[in-house]
Parts: sequence; C-alpha cells; structure tokens
Amino acid sequence: MGELRINHDKCVVCKQCITACAFNALSVEDGHISVNSACRLCGSCVKKCPLHAIEIVEDRHVIDRDQYHDIMVIAEIDGSTIAPVSYELIGEALKLAAIRQDKVSVAVLGYQLDDMVKSLKGYGLDHIYVFDDPSLSIFRCDVFANVLYDFLSKRKDNVVLIPATLNGRSLAPSIAARFKTGLTADCTKLEMRENGDLVQIRPAFGGNIMAMILNSHARPQMATVREKVMDRAIYKNDDSGTIEKIMVEPSLLQSSVLVETVHDLPKASNISSATRIIVIGRGVPVSDHPRIHGLAKKLDATIGYTRPMVEKGIGSVLYQIGLSGRTVKADWILTLGVSGAIQFTAGMDQSSLILAINNDPNASIFNIAHHGMVADVSQWLDEWEKRYGSLQ
Ligand SMILES: Cc1cc2nc3c(=O)[nH]c(=O)nc-3n(C[C@H](O)[C@H](O)[C@H](O)COP(=O)(O)OP(=O)(O)OC[C@H]3O[C@@H](n4cnc5c(N)ncnc54)[C@H](O)[C@@H]3O)c2cc1C
Ligand code: SF4
Ligand code: SF4
Repeated sequence: MGELRINHDKCVVCKQCITACAFNALSVEDGHISVNSACRLCGSCVKKCPLHAIEIVEDRHVIDRDQYHDIMVIAEIDGSTIAPVSYELIGEALKLAAIRQDKVSVAVLGYQLDDMVKSLKGYGLDHIYVFDDPSLSIFRCDVFANVLYDFLSKRKDNVVLIPATLNGRSLAPSIAARFKTGLTADCTKLEMRENGDLVQIRPAFGGNIMAMILNSHARPQMATVREKVMDRAIYKNDDSGTIEKIMVEPSLLQSSVLVETVHDLPKASNISSATRIIVIGRGVPVSDHPRIHGLAKKLDATIGYTRPMVEKGIGSVLYQIGLSGRTVKADWILTLGVSGAIQFTAGMDQSSLILAINNDPNASIFNIAHHGMVADVSQWLDEWEKRYGSLQ
C-alpha cells in the first residue's frame, strides 16, 4: 500500500485533479487540496496535475528474505480429532519445504489436546506446537489471532498455511492484517521458488484466469487452502514431530466475545467426502433426472450438481461442486451435460478418474476428462437401459 501526498508549496489549486478523480476523493478544504478515504490510489490525479504537485508514496518496507525460512501449518480441530484438511496442508507444506530444505511445523490450538496431537507424529514434521487452554476450547477469532500472532511474531516463518474452513477464513485475515502481510485465499496450487517466494495460484476474475500471486515485500507469506485440494501427507511411521507445549499469556486469552452457550448442530451431509459421483449439468433434460438417480443408486454413487442446477432449485447447495460450492476428490466422477467451466472444474479436477458425456465435441470438460464420450445424454441412457435394464 501507499499514500497520496500533495505538495501544497507547488499546488496552485487549479482543481484539475478534482475533475480527474472518479472516486470523489479530492476536494478543497481551507484553500488546500485535501484527500479523503475514498482514494483508491489509482494515480489519475497524479497524471493530471500539470505541476507534479501530487505523488503516490509507496509504503514498502524492505524485508530481508534470507532471514525467513520454514513453513508453519495451523491445524484445525474437528471435535476430538485433527481435521483431515490439516494433514493435506502438511502434505503440501512438506513438498514446498523440500525445494529449500525448510522445516515444517504445525500449531494446534484447543483444549485437552494431549491424545489428539500425538496423531500428528510420524508425518515428517519438525515441531508440533500445542496451545492447550480452556479458553481455547471453542473458536473465538480474536483470541486465536492474539495467540497465533504473538507466537508467529517471535519466529521468522517464511510461509503460514491455514485451512480455508469457516474458522480459518476468519482467522487468516486477522493474523495477516496484524503482520501487514498479504493473504491469498482458497489457493488451488502452490509453488516455492528458490528465493523463498511462494507462488500462490488460484482462479481470479470470476475464474476466467488463473492468477499467480506473489507477496515479495512482506513476510510471512500467508495462504488458505480448501479441503480436498492438496494431497494428504504420507504417514512415515517414524518419530518425527517433537511435541512442544507453549504457555499462553493470560492477557492474550481475553476476548471481546462472550460465549454463553454452545449448541452442537448435527452435521449436514454434503458432497465433499463422496468417492463415486455423477454430476448433473444443465445439458441433462429434467425428464432424465430420475433415470440418473436410478443409475447413481445402481453404481452406489452420489449425485452432484453444477451451479445452474442449484440456482434452478434442482440440487442442494451442499451438493454443488466448484469454486462457489464444494471441492471433491473422488475415485471416479462422471459428468453428464456439463460444459466444464473452470469454476466447476476447480472443484473436481483432482479426482482420480474423470469421465464426461457431452454432445459438444468442443466442450471444455473434455480437456480434463480421462475418458470422454461425445453423445446425447438421453440416448446414452436409453442405450444403458437396453443393455443393463431399467433405471427407473
Ligand atoms: C464467481 C463464479 C463462481 C462460480 N462457481 C461455480 C461453481 O461452484 N460450480 C459450477 O458448476 N459453476 C460455477 N459457476 C458457473 C460456471 O461458470 C458455469 O456457468 C457452470 O459451471 C455451467 O454449468 P453447466 O456445465 O451445468 O451448464 P452449461 O455451461 O450450460 O453446459 C451445459 C453443457 O451440456 C451440453 N449439453 C446440452 N445438451 C446436451 C445433451 N442432450 N447431451 C449431452 N450434453 C448436452 C452442452 O454442450 C454444454 O456443454 C461460477 C461462476 C462464477 C462467475
Ligand atoms: S492538479 Fe495539481 S496544481 Fe492543480 S489543484 Fe491538483 S494538485 Fe494542485
Ligand atoms: S489517486 Fe485516484 S482515487 Fe486517489 S485522489 Fe487521485 S484520482 Fe482520486
């Protein structure tokens, strides 16, 4: 970030900058040009000023990259276990760390964690840092951010990875803001450069491009990653992962949130954990939906939907696959009448076997399908029934 500075000695209050500003961020106050909080630092006024009386001053402190090493994963707890997404982040962190021989550690916050954290041993971690306190028994963003910021600011981690869960999505920006560092949410791919820069890749501009985001001017580099996007760490069955309990300053545990009661809601089932999936896309005539449900039953598969099907009220949002839905990593996934927009494929392209049926030979889904068939879905279902019996 930076700030807009006006050199009042040079300025003759000609007001050309005010006209140039599309955000109404400039005005005359007490005979001087004044800038307000609407300024987007777009630079139009800088270009317009004939006297070079306005400039954007970059607020970049130079960091010494060489001082920053290692990767910290913030684990998530799900009831009385470490959430699976934590192991996926550890797996990814270990791959990234191999590029520069960095160490990977994990931080776990909660209460009565002794048994839980033992399950993190044997995955190739350096340290398992444990913050165990009754005040951490439920997630309160301000307390978790206090504790983690205090801990991380005493270290020089190059990268901090946080699960893109409901909790992680509020925790990550709270910590990043305190560090004044960047944060890339929902990364679909991460790459490590030799100089320590983390290339954070994710769909951007409505999924029309894959953006490669760098945060070269601040540390730690922070990213969140959704469940099922990265490969789970492989259990090595060794003694790796030194468990270290960290004492927490009582002042850090003070929260502005008073939790009076906690109700455990039954977990709504969703498509995330399905291993065999048939996806109904917009190309499937509604009259064929019952046959596809019949097929799913025969193949012991779960039905997933593209977003238009959810918007039409045909499928539940919990079963929508894609960027604004759930991510799946199925053993096999069969897409029917699905075009293969990147916003959809970003949520399923890590599946082991991708099968697609579409009547358009140029449909993008064929670019990622392991096996594709150019066919009309209804005719294909007819053929199935002829060979294997009714699907109704
Ligand atoms: C910010 C953002 C987030 C988004 N998030 C998601 C998301 O999470 N999930 C998601 O799915 N989408 C998402 N979208 C929408 C996405 O861009 C696509 O519009 C959507 O995936 C298209 O769904 P579809 O493939 O079912 O429909 P269409 O794109 O309409 O494709 C239908 C396909 O069916 C084929 N077809 C038609 N008739 C037949 C037939 N008889 N037999 C065989 N094939 C046939 C057509 O050739 C076509 O390829 C998002 C968009 C934005 C901007
Ligand atoms: S354009 Fe330049 S000289 Fe004119 S009012 Fe703006 S800052 Fe002052
Ligand atoms: S930098 Fe852009 S937004 Fe800010 S005052 Fe100048 S023209 Fe307006």
